[in-house]
Amino acid sequence: MNCPYCEKEMKKGIISGDGRSRVYWKSGEKRTNFKDKLGGTGILKAVKYSLAVFEIEAYYCPKCKKMIFDTEVS
Ligand SMILES: [Zn+2]
Repeated sequence: MNCPYCEKEMKKGIISGDGRSRVYWKSGEKRTNFKDKLGGTGILKAVKYSLAVFEIEAYYCPKCKKMIFDTEVS
């Protein structure tokens, strides 16, 4: 995948972390709250969970300091 800003080749990689909490996204300035979580909204479908980790396949441009990954949000 090429960077949409500088059009150079992006590096493929994995964003990861401990899987104690799901990864959420919410539009605007505030993070996902307890009520959103109860309703199951804002879950990133690109995130793969296993026992103690989560992973997201993402492309990184070191020049522009941008990352891109495909996902849907529930
Ligand atoms: Zn770039």
